[in-house]
Amino acid sequence: MEYYSLHHKAPKVSFKEAVIRGLAPDKGLYFPSEIKPLPEEFFKNMKFKSKGEIAYEVIQPFVDHAIPEVDLRGILEDTLSFDFPLVEVEKGISSLELFHGPTLAFKDVGARFMARCLGFFNQESDAKVTVLVATSGDTGSAVAHGFYKVPGVEVVILYPKGKVSAIQEKQLTTLGENITALEVEGTFDDCQAMVKQAFLDPDFIGVRKLTSANSINVARWLPQMFYYFFAYQQLTTNKPLVFSVPSGNFGNLCAGLMAQKLGLPIQHFVAGTNANDVVPRYLQSGNYAEKLSVATISNAMDVGAPSNFIRIQELFGNDFENLKKNLHGFSFTDAETKTAMEQLFLRHGYSADPHGAVGYLALKSFLKDHPNYYGVFLETAHPVKFLDVLPFELQQKTCVPEAIVGIMDKEKKAEIVSAYAQLKIKLLN
Ligand SMILES: *Cc1c(COP(=O)(O)O)cnc(C)c1O
Repeated sequence: MEYYSLHHKAPKVSFKEAVIRGLAPDKGLYFPSEIKPLPEEFFKNMKFKSKGEIAYEVIQPFVDHAIPEVDLRGILEDTLSFDFPLVEVEKGISSLELFHGPTLAFKDVGARFMARCLGFFNQESDAKVTVLVATSGDTGSAVAHGFYKVPGVEVVILYPKGKVSAIQEKQLTTLGENITALEVEGTFDDCQAMVKQAFLDPDFIGVRKLTSANSINVARWLPQMFYYFFAYQQLTTNKPLVFSVPSGNFGNLCAGLMAQKLGLPIQHFVAGTNANDVVPRYLQSGNYAEKLSVATISNAMDVGAPSNFIRIQELFGNDFENLKKNLHGFSFTDAETKTAMEQLFLRHGYSADPHGAVGYLALKSFLKDHPNYYGVFLETAHPVKFLDVLPFELQQKTCVPEAIVGIMDKEKKAEIVSAYAQLKIKLLN
């Protein structure tokens, strides 16, 4: 399988090279040159297959010769060592819970898969790779845990001081080993700007190999297709299916649309956003206008220029009408999101985080006009990660899951950075 750049000004590359590079040399995102539907028997027998087997058959064509079968199967077993339960919330609506991984957010799967792929590719090389990543919370913790103790890979995470939740900070700063956390005196945008500057800095050439681990990387993006297959495996309805995806950079939604192209019978998709509503506006007006991001309570979706949307357009042949037949988009205010969390809890006994609540709201909006569908919304994080913005009743009932209780007592280790020059000195040493 070859990958081409969506800017069409760079050579095609293998899966291995696409993973190592992250972005193509012409700054375009890599896209698979072929998306072939899976055979009919695959879907017929899916109910009897293990997660690892499904994942292998889904991703193998995209990895191709880059990783041998036994190694790829091992990577997948390791990556997917937790559950993805589908929970019925009310009649006709289920939540696909993607927060049962080590950092309690759906980014665990992509980060773990990418880490293991990079670790595999690095086996034969002496040169260490440094993964440099800016985070507003979830990405950094998933990447830190995903890459923890992966040989040959150093991870440097930049996060804005005082702007991540207490749990997120502990998840970023207590691992040690090959994970270094840098606390930046500034905003997430400042962190991002420093990372970008480092990638463009010629002084690192030949000294330190830098790579990124955000969802532009095909190894983080593609394994997200699994969620939709795992959900389908657990569904028993005969109705047409609609999946609602709370979206920021649109990597997760794009992976769902890929799963549909592979033949998974999902009839429709819904994108739910917070006030950062570039895509819902586009779907309504045909006018794509990126904006500066605004801060909301579903902060992992505070994205003004969604990086993966270009992949979605490519999937639909850059045809607006074609895309619109498959995708609705709705945006919601923080007040609406809070009310949804409250109602889900009081009426249905379900605890949702602010991101999942946006997914739920978007699904409800779609179902109002399309009552014959069965709906699934993706619950992308555990509510405890966003404790400070939960409604009071929910706050009282939300406890830290057993698996991460110990983390709150661990000692934070982070170095303060306030300017690019300081980051550069650290990286050059
Ligand atoms: C990253 C994230 C999202 C947005 O996912 P995209 O693939 O960027 O659209 C939604 N919810 C949570 C909790 C996240 O961490």
